[in-house]
Amino acid sequence: MPSGRVVLATHNAHKVEEFGAIVGATRPDLEVVGYDGPEPVEDGVTFAENALIKARAAAAHTGLPAMADDSGIRVDVLGGSPGVFSAYWAGHKKDGVANYELLLDQLADIADPHRTAQFVSTIALVIPAEDGRPAEEHVVEGIWPGRVATAPVGDNGFGYDPVFIPDEQGEPARTAAELSPEEKNAQSHRARAFVALGPLLAGLRA
Ligand code: IMP
Repeated sequence: MPSGRVVLATHNAHKVEEFGAIVGATRPDLEVVGYDGPEPVEDGVTFAENALIKARAAAAHTGLPAMADDSGIRVDVLGGSPGVFSAYWAGHKKDGVANYELLLDQLADIADPHRTAQFVSTIALVIPAEDGRPAEEHVVEGIWPGRVATAPVGDNGFGYDPVFIPDEQGEPARTAAELSPEEKNAQSHRARAFVALGPLLAGLRA
């Protein structure tokens, strides 16, 4: 039976479940709950800043330890863009297909060796001050290296998955949208960030 709670700064029930499973594996005494308080403006210019902005707001509003994640794709030849603009690269409608179509168009003349990119997942954990202990802020990051395909392939996943070919998967190389959910979950940027989060969760007070 969980005896403590950690809030996750998201309205997405699927994310709460995903984080709940990860946290439960290390800390069955902790329950992950969603956040329904005021949402801050995500005006950070890095994934870490945006994750911290969201986690700080949830911790301040609830008084509980709070986690938040921020993620996206960094393309080297674009100097790390779309980066924090990944969700709305082709406009604020947040259209995943329009986003990757614009990216493919921008890279149309770029040869394969220069199409390197990374999916990045950043998770912030903010622990409010308690019993004379100062507040704590932690940020972990998971990076999934790969390259941008020349055309979309695959039906699984979301966002830029159809145009992202992860490294280290043998031949024939597949896009992230051609991987099964299990394959993606075993190697993705989020999986890597979760690994880094483990030791922090282990030390959390219930
Ligand atoms: P957010 O972290 O929910 O704000 O997501 C940022 C954006 O990054 C998403 O809308 C996607 O466009 C992109 N993104 C993040 N993770 C993935 C992924 O695993 N696959 C494909 N796109 C992703």
